[in-house]
This record gives sequence, structure tokens and C-alpha cells, in this order.
Amino acid sequence: MEELNDYLAKKGKKLETLCEQFGTPLYVYDGDIIERQYKKLTSSFSSVSLKIKYALKANTNQGILKLMRKLGSGLDAVSIEEVQLGLLAGFSPEEILFTPNGVAFDELKKAVEIGVKINIDNISVLEHFGHDYGDKVPCCIRLNPHIMAGGNTHIQTGHIDSKFGISIYQLRHVERIIKNYNIRINGLHIHTGSEILDSSVFLRVADLMFETAQSFPELEFIDFGSGFKVAYKDGDAVTDIEELGKELSQRFNDFCKGYGKKLELWFEPGKFLVSECGFLLVKVNVIKQTLSTVFAGVDSGQNHLIRPMFYDSHHHIANLSNPNDKPRIYSVVGYICETDTLGWDRKISEIREGDILAICNAGAYGFSMSNNYNSRMRPPEILIYKDKVHLIRKRETIEDLLRNQVEVEL
Ligand SMILES: *Cc1c(COP(=O)(O)O)cnc(C)c1O
Repeated sequence: MEELNDYLAKKGKKLETLCEQFGTPLYVYDGDIIERQYKKLTSSFSSVSLKIKYALKANTNQGILKLMRKLGSGLDAVSIEEVQLGLLAGFSPEEILFTPNGVAFDELKKAVEIGVKINIDNISVLEHFGHDYGDKVPCCIRLNPHIMAGGNTHIQTGHIDSKFGISIYQLRHVERIIKNYNIRINGLHIHTGSEILDSSVFLRVADLMFETAQSFPELEFIDFGSGFKVAYKDGDAVTDIEELGKELSQRFNDFCKGYGKKLELWFEPGKFLVSECGFLLVKVNVIKQTLSTVFAGVDSGQNHLIRPMFYDSHHHIANLSNPNDKPRIYSVVGYICETDTLGWDRKISEIREGDILAICNAGAYGFSMSNNYNSRMRPPEILIYKDKVHLIRKRETIEDLLRNQVEVEL
């Protein structure tokens, strides 16, 4: 958070200027922050063969994907469409891991034809895969360790009721299928859910993976998924990446010695790489004093950033136009006709109508989860990288809202 406050003090005016140039609402991503996060990860795991597979569902803009590629990342894709977006951004098929859940087998077939790496998270799919491809196409399996992790119940994936992964208790069945179809398992994958507070959870999961790996002699990588927590507000715990890097790397190297082969260690972070780089910049249309609060009504809402309403997530909000005035308590709300709150009871430097607010941590699951509800256009996206400002998506127009509608004579 200190980092964020320093950043806003330094760059707040620049962000405000972008609003004059491109209008509001506006998504701005700072590529230097993405690079900082990427390097934080690689430098913390410098003693292992680390591969980062950016989970592109967090932010799929081609500009962001190209930057990831430039930094050396691969991709984790959850749909064939995401695979296609990755290819269009210049990634080669081998750099992409396809991790779908509950998709038709045809989609897996397409992925095999394209040549991306395949991750399977269901026993019936594994059987089908074995029947069709035998030992010709290797695959990775997604395991569910049943370890409770993550602070947000919407995005936990490792618990007993989760639809994700093959239960660690079904390994006997998995082994039976693999043996009968000669399936080559090239990787083990686990994604215990987002926002793991405690790196000891990672280490517990790691021990479980190392133990499981002994039954799979042809592994090339172990994929620990994501779950890194980032700070949304003052005092938020974050995953201590350096500490985790030290501990996990050591255990991983010890494991590889015992396994008899140097494997790759994979992560597939989304939020960790792109959450903090993003700001949704909005203009205050109205200040409304009611009997219970002061509302600041802005020219955006849950159609552009759904996380506060959907996950009850906290996004820091700062007044860029009047940053150093006396603070007051506000409820910042959007213009959608629907409960539409971006921040409750926020202490923000005095807001006047016309001021520009920055909604922070908007780089992940912001634009990628946005929609056109209330027939509002989606905002443009800007990427700043090494002091250069790039428009990476234009503002939508009324034509975009009509694009696929078919005219009808009645
Ligand atoms: C969404 C997802 C991620 C990324 O999660 P973050 O919390 O954004 O880091 C990684 N792996 C898989 C399989 C996912 O579905």
C-alpha cells in the first residue's frame, strides 16, 4: 500500500492528464509495474528452473499479452478462445497450457491439434483422452488436494465441494487409467484458489505434490498454479514471495534430486502480475448528501468493474483532482440502475463534482469481466510502458452495441 500511495503521489497528475486526452471512464495499466511484479517472482525463484504461465483470463488485452511475452512469460488459458488470443499475440503453442474445466471434448481435441500443452481435470476426460491419443499426446493432470486456502469463498477451488481438479483420493483410479491407456503424464498441476494468505499453505501443498509425483516417472514440470495475494488496502497481508521462493526452491531442488531429474517449476499468476498495474479512472458526476451518507456518483460502475459487487472486494479509491484536502467519508457509487457500489465508507480527500477518482487494483478481472449492461460502452484501455503511452483499446461506440444484432422487419 505504501508503494501505491507513493505511486499516486508521483503519478496521480499524469493519470489525471490522460483523462483529459482520452476521456472517462478509462482503464490505465502501468507496464513498469507488471515488469516489477514479474521480476519479483523470477528473482525469488532464481535457483530453480522457473516458468511463469500468465493466467490471461485476468486481462486479455493483446498489448498486455505482448508485454508478458516480451518479459519471457508463457500462458495459462482456460478456453480455446484464450488459446487463440495467445497465438495472435505471438506465443507459440508449446508456451501455452490449456487448463479448461467442464468443456466439451471437442475443445480439447482442438487444443491438441493446435499443439498446446493439455491439462486434464476430470477422470472421465482422462479416460476419453487415453482412448483417443494413448501414448501419442502427453498431458498434465490437475489435482485437488482438498486443502482449504484463500480468503475469498467465491474463488476457492481446492475444497471438497469444488468442481475443479481430480481428487487426490482418486489417484488409484487415475493410475489405473494411465496404465491401461499408456498415457504419458508430463506434469502435475494444482491451483488451490486465489488469495492464499499464508505461504505455509503452499509448502504443505508442495509436500503433497512431491509425494504424489513419485508415482509419475515421466514428469517434466510441476505447476503450483497461483493464489498469490496482493494488497488491496492498508494492513492487508500479502504473500511473502521472497520467503516462499527461498523455502519452496530448496524443497523443490531436494525433491528433484530424489526424483532423479531436474524438473521445471511452474506458476500461473494472474492477479499477482496485473492487479496493481491497473487503475480505473472515473469522473464524479454528482455529490449527493442523504440522511445517512454522502454519495459520490461516478461515470462508471459494476458494468466496468464488477469485483466490489461480485466478490465484495476492496479497491482503494483516491481523488486525483484534489489529493491533499481534508478527508471526508464517502460511498462511491456507479451509475448503473442496480445496486452499484464501488466503495463503502471511504475516507477520501474532499470530492467535488467533476473530480477524477482512481479506483486501484483494477488491472486484473476488471476489463475482462466487464459488460455493456445499461447499454453503456466499455472504456478504452491505455498501457504506459517505459514512459510511452499506448492506446491499446478504443472506446466503444453505439455501433459496437449493435454489431451482431440482425435487423428485423415487423
Ligand atoms: C484464474 C486462474 C489462475 C490465476 O489466479 P489469480 O488469482 O488471478 O492469480 C491460475 N490458474 C488457473 C487454473 C486459474 O483458473
